Amino acid sequence: MQSADPIIELRGVGHQFDDLVVFENFNLKVFSGDSLVLVGPSGSGKSLLLKFMTGLVAPDQGEVFYRGQLLSTLSKKDQQSFLAEVGMLFQQNALFDSMKVYDNLDFVLGEAKPDWKSSQREAEIVKFLTAVGLDHVPQLFPGELSGGMQKRLGIARALVLQPKLVFYDDPTAGLDPITSRQIIQMILDLKKQLNATIVTVTHDMMRAYQLAGEIMVCFPRDFIKTGGKEETLHHSNAKVQQFIHGDVKGPLEAL
Ligand code: ADP
Ligand code: MG
Repeated sequence: MQSADPIIELRGVGHQFDDLVVFENFNLKVFSGDSLVLVGPSGSGKSLLLKFMTGLVAPDQGEVFYRGQLLSTLSKKDQQSFLAEVGMLFQQNALFDSMKVYDNLDFVLGEAKPDWKSSQREAEIVKFLTAVGLDHVPQLFPGELSGGMQKRLGIARALVLQPKLVFYDDPTAGLDPITSRQIIQMILDLKKQLNATIVTVTHDMMRAYQLAGEIMVCFPRDFIKTGGKEETLHHSNAKVQQFIHGDVKGPLEAL
């Protein structure tokens, strides 16, 4: 069930880089408990959209609201509570390469909870490393992990502060189909455990369907909410049909 007020709302958002218009009068509402899935060709603006929603980039035009408040004018205190509520898995994981697995989480917790004892942090870190299946390798460095394990660590780090709103930018990029499926299952399990709202970018329609949320197919300056799996499969838009089936011929040829 959706509550009346969105957690995140974008109103009239516009953005361009030099002559390249990426967003034009774009509107979106994300409600508590939603699982919004962004798919679409590379360069359509999916990562940028996540950056608007996390406040990392302010759009040229329009407004981004977080629980009804303008993100750009939050007080310092509200900004802190926003940051405490938000978790993000970046496309390139953004791990601390010079820190061991354990320390990647310890650093984040230490920054956010300066008054916690190390034993308190340890209990939390072990809980999250166990949840992502990395409790047996706390002393390895990120460079010593497989691609799938690095993603798991990125997910644990994004979640260790128990955010209510989590953004995943292509969590299965470069992973084999079985690992990809496990990662998405883990994201879904953790969403349930933390009672979170998630927005996930993926390039893989199988993973989009597995996420079982509302799908938005993103084309340049044309973001189309297509609904769940069945509605998306039967969507009437020709570009959507071409994209989800990976057809070479169709209206997207000009892209
Ligand atoms: P996606 O994640 O869908 O592949 P992005 O959101 O990364 O796409 O980028 C959308 C468009 O904006 C692309 O054409 C990209 O080249 C352009 N773009 C993104 N960031 C910048 C930037 N900092 N400077 C110039 N162009 C950018
Ligand atoms: Mg991207």
